Amino acid sequence: MTVGAQSCDALSGKSFAVYDPATGGELAQVPAAGPEDVDAAVKAARVAFEGQWSALPAIARQNLMLKLADLLEDHGEELAQIETLENGKNVMLSRLIEVQASSEYIRYMAGWATKIYGQTFDVSINVPPGMSYQAQTRKEAVGVVAAITPWNFPLGMAVWKLAPALAAGCTVVLKPAEETPLTSMYLAQLCLDAGFPEGVVNVITGTGEDAGAPLVAHPGVDKITFTGSTSVGKIIGAQAMKDVKPVTLELGGKAPMVMFDDMDLDLLGNAVGIGTMFNTGQTCTSGTRLYIQKGIYEKALEVIAGIAGSLPMGSGLSTANMINPVVSAKHQQHVKSCVARAIEEGATPLLNGVTPNQGYYVAPEIFTNTTQDMSIMRNEVFGPVISVTPFEDGDEAMTLANDTIYGLGASIWTTDVNKVMRYVPKIKAGTVWVNAHNIPDMNMPFGGYKQSGIGREHGAGALENYLETKSVCVAYPA
Ligand code: NAD
Repeated sequence: MTVGAQSCDALSGKSFAVYDPATGGELAQVPAAGPEDVDAAVKAARVAFEGQWSALPAIARQNLMLKLADLLEDHGEELAQIETLENGKNVMLSRLIEVQASSEYIRYMAGWATKIYGQTFDVSINVPPGMSYQAQTRKEAVGVVAAITPWNFPLGMAVWKLAPALAAGCTVVLKPAEETPLTSMYLAQLCLDAGFPEGVVNVITGTGEDAGAPLVAHPGVDKITFTGSTSVGKIIGAQAMKDVKPVTLELGGKAPMVMFDDMDLDLLGNAVGIGTMFNTGQTCTSGTRLYIQKGIYEKALEVIAGIAGSLPMGSGLSTANMINPVVSAKHQQHVKSCVARAIEEGATPLLNGVTPNQGYYVAPEIFTNTTQDMSIMRNEVFGPVISVTPFEDGDEAMTLANDTIYGLGASIWTTDVNKVMRYVPKIKAGTVWVNAHNIPDMNMPFGGYKQSGIGREHGAGALENYLETKSVCVAYPA
């Protein structure tokens, strides 16, 4: 772990194993942090925040971030391979999404470090007589940030939090998911190599219970930012409110894809490959509920099943393999149990694919004959498993699409601009793509409606998550 300038073990001396999902073999032992390690990391972050880090001019923060982005690229291939080893994903995704997009996001956010500004206001205060007032706002770094990340995009999610926090002038204690801590540990070392003062970026490894929960509850933390499941998000949100701490929550999803009769059927390849099966379906915005208008239903279903059923499956170290192992034995069991429950409840599986014997694989599956009350339609599976349901008209499709506790991503597929204008406002989701799905951008706000979260990442707005607004009111003789 990295606490202050130290590369260290857990104070208890305990460790836990990280596994390769493609083989089930042990990759590494990493420190199992407990409350005492959390305390040390938060204290290191506090010392850095009150001291050297806050004293640095914004341009110095920018330059350190630019250096970090360069180092990430210099070490990119090694990081990409480690990411694939610990997470299982296709190494091309590790290269493009985890490494390249992360270094680009650090550069994007580095630019904002020098562009933080408040406003000035004319105010109407008229007491006591003879005094005038002028007011302004200052934007100030919130302080010590606790960042807790999931396993599906380990390096990417860490950077989504780290980059705006550093640009704003905060210090960070990052706790990556216990399944995939290795690239975050590497990132901490690169931060030190880039020249960040000690304590600005601390990374502790451990379970949600032993390291995550004490971090969230630590009185020295000023702000919590969390990406993960809605169930854990609720626990973290409740704890944050106990101490009235600002919190950003990026949570689960059950994204609808609404395909109208007039859609360009040539886009179904993108819809399946990127929209649903990308990262083996382990993406919070993955399209999992496909609603297809009756006129194209049979044809589109045939194409979708053909594509999903023929995606090459195997280790992420080979770029040809589009379906890779899911992250862990536990998660493999979860996805398989979702499939079994869907069958028990009466949905029809179309593919019934087979998987290699070794490693945590789950074959893509498509369910038809579903009803909205089935578990497969309501709960997040987080694997290569989708449902396909016909609809009559757009209003019905909107009702079906919005019939969920989630509201993270959604898409509409049509060649009719009038349908785009009519239906995009009706969908309750933080991002609605048109003729695309599952494609975020660093300049495009990202986050959830409903139980998919609170707050937005990406874009200039992400910086606000790490800034307080202070009003300053100056009196002077009229
Ligand atoms: P998870 O909620 O199980 O764990 C996420 C993180 O929280 C891990 O680091 C874990 O150790 C930690 N944690 C667990 N219990 C905790 C507690 N009580 N206190 C503090 N920390 C705790 O999620 P996961 O299985 O790692 O990731 C998959 C989930 O993440 C899915 O639901 C997915 O939709 C969601 N996700 C959302 C987004 C988004 O931007 N909205 C992005 C990626 C993933």
